[in-house]
Amino acid sequence: MQGLMMDRPLLISSLIRYAAEFHRDTEIVSRSVEGPIHRYTYADAERSSRYLAQGLEALGVGIGDRVATLAWNTWRHFELYFGVSGMGAVCHTLNPRLFAEQLIYIVNHAEDRILCTDLTFLPLVEKLLPQFKTVEHVIVMTDEAHMPDDVPDNYLCYETLLEGRSDDYQWPEFDEDAAASLCYTSGTTGNPKGALYSHRSTVLHSFACCMKDTLGMCSQSVVLPVVPMFHANAWGTPYSAAMTGAKMVFPGPGLDGASVYELVDQENVTALLGVPTVWLMLLEYLRAEGKRIDGVESVVIGGSAAPRAMIEAFENEFDVRVLHAWGMTELSPLGTVNTPRASELDLEQEERLKLQLKQGRGIYGVELRIIGPDGQPQPWDGESVGELECRGPWVSSAYFKNEGGDILHDGWFPTGDIACIDSNGYLQLTDRAKDVIKSGGEWISSIELENEAVSHPGVAEAAVIGIAHPKWDERPLLVVVPVGDFSDKASILEHLRGRVAKWWLPDDIQFVDELPHTATGKISKLELRTRFEDYEFPKGDN
Ligand code: AMP
Repeated sequence: MQGLMMDRPLLISSLIRYAAEFHRDTEIVSRSVEGPIHRYTYADAERSSRYLAQGLEALGVGIGDRVATLAWNTWRHFELYFGVSGMGAVCHTLNPRLFAEQLIYIVNHAEDRILCTDLTFLPLVEKLLPQFKTVEHVIVMTDEAHMPDDVPDNYLCYETLLEGRSDDYQWPEFDEDAAASLCYTSGTTGNPKGALYSHRSTVLHSFACCMKDTLGMCSQSVVLPVVPMFHANAWGTPYSAAMTGAKMVFPGPGLDGASVYELVDQENVTALLGVPTVWLMLLEYLRAEGKRIDGVESVVIGGSAAPRAMIEAFENEFDVRVLHAWGMTELSPLGTVNTPRASELDLEQEERLKLQLKQGRGIYGVELRIIGPDGQPQPWDGESVGELECRGPWVSSAYFKNEGGDILHDGWFPTGDIACIDSNGYLQLTDRAKDVIKSGGEWISSIELENEAVSHPGVAEAAVIGIAHPKWDERPLLVVVPVGDFSDKASILEHLRGRVAKWWLPDDIQFVDELPHTATGKISKLELRTRFEDYEFPKGDN
């Protein structure tokens, strides 16, 4: 027997239409690329998105066509999210921090017909455009007053494209499984691969982000995503903000501590989201200037492991709750979030911190399992490690154009992350499969070593890589960005002793001025390994 409920498609346009109907006066505030702060409302954003849809139609964009963006987090990028997907085209966010060759590969692979760019990236676009084979028009995301004079004819002005459009345009209805947005990830080996989200997956993911036990977005929230809209759709915040009518605050190109602080303070931001590196900058600024962020209720840290010292700093110095989260581009991206259960509220500080260092509990909609080296699912005992696999309605089933072929393992998505899960369902990542250090047939977790290292007061940032070793196969090398001119290796080793197993202790420590980062703000182990290719451990008694 079938249920008798309506079959209404879950479309991205329904999110912005909802926001315009029920939260019409709620503001979207952005630091513009041109400089001034821009503010308008959900009603304005929905209207502009419909104008944009018509403008794109006039350029010949149709269902399934790819429209690329090279842009910061601003209201215009927000309009593109809804205008492009809303009309049935695919919003393809490009990461401007990628190498030129990667961008060229991605644009050609995606067959982008339109490229929308912020003024910031015009020089990059001019340089690469001759190699973008399918791009017909470049839309410069600015108004007529800021349009550069000397651009070619196929460069259009964004605001001009929106002018004179009809208020009668209705969002089209189509299959909820249609592609809505595209984001390439370089997390896997080989060429970057496209995660292709559908309308249905995006709307379901948004519901999940609004749950109090996850990111808790609601109409009282004031959300500032420092995580870029070109990185896994800013963790879905534009969609879940529209779903709830949360006020949005977009930092534009200003990601430094002072600029983020200014917006947090002036706009009464309650929720921050970003990778650890941006929080290092904010914390440094707050301490140096003696500033407070008392209105902020939570800061979501994801993308890389949240270091212990960072959790302590936010909670103890600034009274801001840290939500440690794990996800990946292929998961839209939310997989797990660390929100305490009732029984964990009264834990002693040290126990609570230990729990918070884990990547969080599974959320409804994402099934998790750990596959051990023997190919079998592992028990959830907080110890048995293996590769994490996921399954769910917002988890990729294949990459765009089937790159990489059949990626699923028995119907599950293998994440490439090495982890364990405890009896309460808390996930703890120990490594990327390719970063784990294999010493004497056992695994050493680089993440755990790094976490312990950065809790030493002389260590600003740390990375651990495996170096070939004649006896043990690999041994850990700790690479440290020191605080000031700190350079006492023995003191760091002493600090680690007792915190990690003795055989985990790094064989050496190297001090560097900075660590290499990837285009999404993670420490690039690949580059670090190349840098230390010729490194040999000091001759000792190992
Ligand atoms: P991306 O697709 O670029 O977002 O990268 C996803 C990868 O980032 C995951 O597979 C993890 O390896 C890593 N990652 C994300 N969140 C965390 C976290 N909280 N702790 C450790 N690693 C993380």
